[in-house]
Amino acid sequence: MSIAFLYNDIFRNSDFGNNHPVFPKRVSNVYDFTKLLNLRKNINFIENKKANLKTLQLFHSFDYLEILYQTEKTQYISKDNSKKYNLGTFSNPIFKQMFSRHATSAGALVLATDLIKTKYDYVFSPGSGAHHAKQNRADGFCYLNDIAIAILVLQSKGYKKILYFDMDAHYGDGIIDYFKNNQEVCTISIHQENLWPRTGDYLYDEVNNTYNFPVPEGFNDYNFKKIIDELIFKIIKKFNPEVVLMQMGADCLKYDKMSKMELSNNSMSYLIKIMKNLSQKIILMGGGGYNPWVTLRAWTYNLATLLGETESLELNKKAKSFLHNITYKDPPKYDWVNYIKDEPNIFDYV
Ligand SMILES: [Zn+2]
Repeated sequence: MSIAFLYNDIFRNSDFGNNHPVFPKRVSNVYDFTKLLNLRKNINFIENKKANLKTLQLFHSFDYLEILYQTEKTQYISKDNSKKYNLGTFSNPIFKQMFSRHATSAGALVLATDLIKTKYDYVFSPGSGAHHAKQNRADGFCYLNDIAIAILVLQSKGYKKILYFDMDAHYGDGIIDYFKNNQEVCTISIHQENLWPRTGDYLYDEVNNTYNFPVPEGFNDYNFKKIIDELIFKIIKKFNPEVVLMQMGADCLKYDKMSKMELSNNSMSYLIKIMKNLSQKIILMGGGGYNPWVTLRAWTYNLATLLGETESLELNKKAKSFLHNITYKDPPKYDWVNYIKDEPNIFDYV
C-alpha cells in the first residue's frame, strides 16, 4: 500500500510572524521527520502547486481573493478592508506568503482529488485543513478554505457521498455551516463546547447528514471510544462514503493549550483504523495543533496508521535528536522526544 504525501517547501519558508500560535515549520517538521523513519519506503512524496484562481472561486468570492492576493503583494491593507475581510488582525496577520501559502494548501487538496480518483487510495496532506475560512473573509488563522474547495471539486467529479470528519477542538464552521443542508456531504464534528467560534451546537440530523458533537472539557480517550463505537461508527456505516476527508487538528489532544480536551494521539489512530474499514478512499489532513511535539507526533502516527505500519514507529537516533532539537516556549516532556505514541493506550487491547 503506497500513500501520496503532498508537500511544498512554502511551509518551511513562510510563517505567520512572531508570537503567532501557528508556529514556524509545523508542516515541514512532519515532512522532515517522516523522512527519518522507516515508514518512507511506502510513501511517494509529491510536490504540489498552488490552486488556481478559478478553482479558489468555487468557494471564495472574487473580491476577497483579489484583496488577499493584493495584500500579499503590497503588504498593506486599508482599515475598511481589514475589517471587511478580517485580514491584518492578530489572528490573521499580513505576512509575506499569506495568499500563496494558503493557495498551496488548497492546491494540495485539489491534487488529492485527482490522485484519489486515479492512483491512490490514501493521500496525506499535513499542510491542509483550514476549516474556519469563510467565502468572503479569513477567520481563525484560516485564509482559504482548502477543504470546502476540495469537496466542491469532488462533487464536480461526480462524487455523491463525501464524508467530512472534523477532529479539531474547534468547530469546523467554515465547512459544516456551508454544507449542512447538503445530503451528499455528510459532516461529523467533535469539538469542545463553548470554545471559539462558540457555534456548532449539538445536532443529529439524519436527513441532511450533519452531526455535531460538542463535548465538555476533559474529554478523554474513554469518552472518545464510547462516542465512536456507539454513535459515529453507525453513522458512517449507514452513509457508506465513497471518499472521506479527515481534518485532524491536534489541538484536541492533551497538552495542547488551545483547548481543554484531553485526548491522546491513540484516539486519532483508532479512528483512522475504523475509517479504513468503512471507506476505500481517505484524504488525511492536518488542522489546528499548537504544541510542536504533540502535533508532530500525532500527525506522524496518523500517517503510520494510514500506511498500516504503526509497528515501525520505533525512533532511531536521528529521529530522537530531531525531536530534541525542536525549540519552543516550554521544554518538551521526556516522552515527547522518545516516543511517538502517547501513554497509556486504552486501544491496545481492542
Ligand atoms: Zn482548532
